[in-house]
Amino acid sequence: MALILSGDEIDYRTTKCGKYGHAEISFRCDRAIPKIEAEHLISFLEESVADGATYDFGQNVVFGFSILYVGGSDERRLREPDFQSIPIAFVDSLTRTFAIQIEQRRVAEICAPELKPDPPKLINGAFVCSDFWESKGTVIFRQPPTGNFSGWACGCTNKKHDHTNRDNIKETTIYELAVRKPELIKFLGLPEGVRVSLGSDEAVFTYKEKRRPVPLGDL
Ligand SMILES: [Zn+2]
Repeated sequence: MALILSGDEIDYRTTKCGKYGHAEISFRCDRAIPKIEAEHLISFLEESVADGATYDFGQNVVFGFSILYVGGSDERRLREPDFQSIPIAFVDSLTRTFAIQIEQRRVAEICAPELKPDPPKLINGAFVCSDFWESKGTVIFRQPPTGNFSGWACGCTNKKHDHTNRDNIKETTIYELAVRKPELIKFLGLPEGVRVSLGSDEAVFTYKEKRRPVPLGDL
């Protein structure tokens, strides 16, 4: 089930970065995001600063599926993509980033309990068939990621569309997929070897030749 957001936001802030001569780092997110998610990020930031990492103004930081922008004035402030603009525009919140992590973990568990999410980076490449953006049904599968390629290949469900013909295959980015097909985001954290066939009312997961249909309302 999708997270129900309240519209109220909480501010979080590190307290141990100053000890290492680094500015404290803050961010905000919706109250509906479980505190433990934000606390994990706070601990990660504090531990990485203790280990010598720095978060400089204007820097991009990869965090799970998301890319965060380090802004702020006296202290550092993390911002997330608005998931609407191409190129990426950043907003003063991490709500979407946390919500996506929670969703991707849950979908991996539903697909196969032994699966751990392996989110690609938003800037990674993906393949789509030339009819994909207009297609209602969707089939996506993940090959082993290599270099900047996420491993994801996404196609329409028209059996007459030849996906083995290179002229019918285009390159895109995970970020463009997230912006133009937001309903796919929850599946994009699935690791290699997974195939998802998305119809109007159910998703069919295939992993290690096991087929698992799940009503869309349960995802
Ligand atoms: Zn196609």
